[in-house]
Amino acid sequence: MTTGGAGGAGPQLRVLILGGTAQARQLAAELAAATAAAPSGRVVTSLAGRVARPRLPAGETRVGGFGGPVGLARWLRDEQMTAVVDATHPFATRISASAVAACAETGVALLALRRPGWVAGPGDDWHRVPGLTAAAAALPALGRRAMLTTGRQSLAAFAPLDGIFFLIRTVDPPQPPLPADRVLLLDRGPYTVDGELALMRRHDIDVLVTKDSGGEETAAKLTAARHLGLPVLMVDRTPAPDTATVATVDAALAWLLAQPTAAGAPGSQTG
Ligand code: NAP
Repeated sequence: MTTGGAGGAGPQLRVLILGGTAQARQLAAELAAATAAAPSGRVVTSLAGRVARPRLPAGETRVGGFGGPVGLARWLRDEQMTAVVDATHPFATRISASAVAACAETGVALLALRRPGWVAGPGDDWHRVPGLTAAAAALPALGRRAMLTTGRQSLAAFAPLDGIFFLIRTVDPPQPPLPADRVLLLDRGPYTVDGELALMRRHDIDVLVTKDSGGEETAAKLTAARHLGLPVLMVDRTPAPDTATVATVDAALAWLLAQPTAAGAPGSQTG
């Protein structure tokens, strides 16, 4: 979708996108185009600063934490933001909670842009677990050569497991503790089914461990696992905060452009 209708709304659009995902970058690109010709419009994407070489979104970017909900509320007031879109990863729970609290305090409108979780289909052999500890406990019963894609901050849970080989894929190098028998692969999506199949075959993988991140960019591993008849250990999401939520960038754009402040109505200065 393009934001052809955003020209009239753009002047008052002052949005913070909490980013770190492909959807956040897509939204920033759409909004940057909408506000380019609008002098008082502003779109800022915020990144945590975890990744050494992040894919930068279009438009203005800031990097680093805000200092909890209090710091985020202060920043929203100081920068006179009128809306926040929490487009962070579904497993980034602290920043999402922070956004809920800060927006409640300041009266800034909040929307969560959260892609749906993955759904098992015919031929899938998925084993859902509530967290990383449960995944590590369940793993020995499912395989001996695991492809582990749960992220570099999750690896300590698997470090104590003996007798299991791990193909660990992360964006940046992980810190110890790590499983002893491992190959480390630094890479980031999007991935293809053919690529994932070749990788799993090369390392003789017999089980896949993943978080239920959802989205297209990293879903090829699930298709590859199905093709190979491999079990998948799927770490479930924790319940999301109770806030207005959409699943697509288009829906987030529609929500933003329907905000009273986007149309120039009173109430754009909050807190
Ligand atoms: P988290 O546990 O929810 O956040 C920890 C702290 O990092 C937050 O309290 C906040 O610090 C800061 N932070 C997080 N996201 C931020 C953002 N977009 N802008 C500014 N500060 C942010 O998050 P996480 O799981 O460490 O993830 C960090 C970032 O990586 C997120 O932005 C997320 O979208 C992205 N990411 C996460 C995963 C994952 O599996 N968790 C996967 C891919 C991408 P303050 O309290 O000081 O504000």
